[in-house]
Amino acid sequence: MFKHAQSNPLGRRVIAAILICSTCLAILATGAQLVFDYYQGVSGIDARLDEIEHAYAESIATSLWTMDEQQTRKQIEGIARLPDVMTAELRDPADKFLMRAGVPLSSVAAANTIRRHIPIKFTERGTTDNKFQVATLEITASIDGVYAELRNKVLLILVTQTTKTAIVVLFTLFIFRRLVSRHLSSIATYAQRLDLNRLGETLTLNRQSTPHPDELDIVVTAFNDMTASIRRDVDELALYRQGLERLVEARTVELAQQVTEREDAIRRLNLEITDRLHAEQTARENEDRYRQVVEMSPDAITIERDGRIIFVNRGTLNLLGARNEEQVKAVTLFDMAPPEEQAVMRQQLDAILPSDGEPHSFEVKMRRFDGTLIDVEIRRAIFQYDGASAIQTVIHDITHRKSYEEQLRRQALHDALTGLPNRLLLLDRMEQAIAAAQRDGSTVHVMFFDLDRFKYVNDTLGHDAGDELLKTITRRMSLCARKSDTLARLGGDEFVLMLEGVDCEDTIYRLVQRLMATICEPVVLGGQDVAVTCSIGISVYPHDADEAGTLLKYADAAMYHAKEKGRNGVERYTAEMDKRANEHLVMEAHLRRALERNEFRLVYQPLLDLRSGRIAGAEALIRWQHPQLGMLAPVRFISLAEETGLINGIGEWVIRTACLQAKAWMDAGVSHLPVSVNLSTQQLIRPHFDAEVASALKNSGLPAHSLELEITESASMRDPERTVQLLHTLTAMGVGIAIDDFGTGYSNLSYLKRFPVRRLKLDRSFISDISTSATDAALTQSIIGMAHSLGLAVVAEGVENVNQLRQLVAYGCDYLQGYYFSPPVAPESLLAMVRAGRAIDMRSLAVTEASVSV
Ligand code: C2E
Ligand code: CA
Ligand code: CA
Repeated sequence: MFKHAQSNPLGRRVIAAILICSTCLAILATGAQLVFDYYQGVSGIDARLDEIEHAYAESIATSLWTMDEQQTRKQIEGIARLPDVMTAELRDPADKFLMRAGVPLSSVAAANTIRRHIPIKFTERGTTDNKFQVATLEITASIDGVYAELRNKVLLILVTQTTKTAIVVLFTLFIFRRLVSRHLSSIATYAQRLDLNRLGETLTLNRQSTPHPDELDIVVTAFNDMTASIRRDVDELALYRQGLERLVEARTVELAQQVTEREDAIRRLNLEITDRLHAEQTARENEDRYRQVVEMSPDAITIERDGRIIFVNRGTLNLLGARNEEQVKAVTLFDMAPPEEQAVMRQQLDAILPSDGEPHSFEVKMRRFDGTLIDVEIRRAIFQYDGASAIQTVIHDITHRKSYEEQLRRQALHDALTGLPNRLLLLDRMEQAIAAAQRDGSTVHVMFFDLDRFKYVNDTLGHDAGDELLKTITRRMSLCARKSDTLARLGGDEFVLMLEGVDCEDTIYRLVQRLMATICEPVVLGGQDVAVTCSIGISVYPHDADEAGTLLKYADAAMYHAKEKGRNGVERYTAEMDKRANEHLVMEAHLRRALERNEFRLVYQPLLDLRSGRIAGAEALIRWQHPQLGMLAPVRFISLAEETGLINGIGEWVIRTACLQAKAWMDAGVSHLPVSVNLSTQQLIRPHFDAEVASALKNSGLPAHSLELEITESASMRDPERTVQLLHTLTAMGVGIAIDDFGTGYSNLSYLKRFPVRRLKLDRSFISDISTSATDAALTQSIIGMAHSLGLAVVAEGVENVNQLRQLVAYGCDYLQGYYFSPPVAPESLLAMVRAGRAIDMRSLAVTEASVSV
């Protein structure tokens, strides 16, 4: 903006105006002058021609008349030499050419000339009007001279005017800048910088003061007046604000004071009022309450004085089931107590009543006049009745409350599903039983039951079926137990049966047999027969422990032992089991950390193609490199991992690792070595299992057809619709599916038709007996035949000797897995095996190593 101001646009605009105006004026004036000069030049020539007429006409006439040709020519030539004259021509009256001087007429342009015809007349001497025309003189004059003069003049005017204008412009600019625009700039700067803090600065211009103020002075004065008035206003406002603030402050203090004063007043008033109200109320209440209590209360209310009942309300008759007041008045409270409560009643009635009106209350049972028992709360207080001191007794029926409390207590101590005592109540009863056994030297048996594979029922058939199973088993166990025994449910599928005073081991043995038999009888769940077995652990007081918690823990440990021994069995607690039970807990703790500590390994067992006898794949089998226990097989931890849910993370790790390994084999030059991975039921029902698999494949770069997933039948039965869908998704990706452990579960081949399965893995239990048991041989043969008819290939698991192999080959089995060829090995060993061309010679059925490495 200031830059713009310095370039002086205002000055330039003034100059432009002056320039345009003066140029227009100069053009007009010059034009007028030129026109005037032109006419003056032309009339000068005319005047000269007039002069010629006057000066020469007579003498030429005389020369012609005298026929003096020489003289005539001299005169004509004299005319032609005159300025501006170009030609002089003489013609006789008949217009015949006589003589000429100057340039010939034809060479003169007619436009720039003036022509004059002068008649030459001779006048006879002595007369004036006797004239004879003797010739005509034609003179042609040029006006080029006039034009040349005009051109010069224009040039001169142009030069002088331009110079003058330039000087005037420069001067005007200088003056304008000095006098006006620089001051305007400083006014602008001042106005721009002006704010509340600079209101004190006055505007002054850098110029000499003049006696008479000009426009700039007026502007400056106006500015300064304006800032001064703003300053005054601002000052005034500040003052006003200060005043206001002080006023508000003062007012606030004043108000606060008033408020506290008023609050105090109100508080005092309130106190007064409440005091008064309270006093009035108590007085009124004493009366009112009494009347109401007496008239409407369902409670029994009596008043006695000097040991005599002097008042009985209607409620008393109802509550006690009395026929009339006399019946009530005839007895004391003590008389109404049942024998077992009399001691309490006596004690409470003898208690000294406080004299301040606070009632003394207690809870007892009372027998009504009709003989039924009720729970009551009795409140007794001394009060003023008819001006004298009396005892009022209020009896309130709390039978409902008591039964409700009882119900609550039951709920806290019982399992909601089965109604059996829970751990809390069990421990309580155990303590009582131990105390009793201690007294009379008898024993307490604690039997810990855990259903085998209950989790599997829950997983495959759903929780409702699981609950149903638990209820059925509870019913059956209750039937086996005596009234005096305690059957409890600790949660999940764990039950405890506590037996008191059974010292005969034989009786215990028979009871256990009966329990196991009844538990494993099939239960119909969702239209299917489901049979579960159970594992039982037993601990005994006083042999094993004399404390309830420990006894229970030992029974639990014994039960675990039974489980580990292969389930469906009983174990008596022995001292070293405690250690094992602890181990179990320690194991769980370790398992939780195993993944992050990278303690899992995968070993790979080769799968043989029985047509070629060559390695056609490998099954990944997990191992746990336990920090203390060494390398652990899956039996030691997979079920624990499933129980704790850790299997999900572990399973995901297995898939990822197996895929990476298979890809590494490919990269090492093994053209096709698909890897099989075992899945647990829980993995199959995970929400995004297919995405997990896809990610493992993508991450490793392994082609999907090089991965096979092994699922068990039972896993696929959990939610068949969903499984079918999942398996289709997986096979659509290119992943192969195999049914593992076939023959141990439902073994329902027609059902399998619905699943997009590639292979069946025949369980080891079939193969192991194939050469000794005709049934197993026949079964194996027919399963292979049926599988083939369904388009499924069969893998025989656990082939350990050449006899088994022979039979399987004879039955047309497609693949083999087993120690006969190789146990599971480390991935490097498998690679070495493939490279060495290890195979089974299908003619001799012996394992050979090719001489040429692959
Ligand atoms: P499986 O899927 O039936 O695996 C075959 C088991 O049989 C393996 O036991 C293998 O070492 C063993 N085996 C192979 N050939 C023979 C043989 O000729 N004779 C005998 N007696 N045994 C043979 P392993 O490795 O102890 O695995 C046991 C089970 O643990 C597997 O049974 C599988 O159900 C489960 N499992 C293994 N790895 C995993 C895993 O990564 N995830 C899940 N969920 N389960 C796994
Ligand atoms: Ca398997
Ligand atoms: Ca298997």
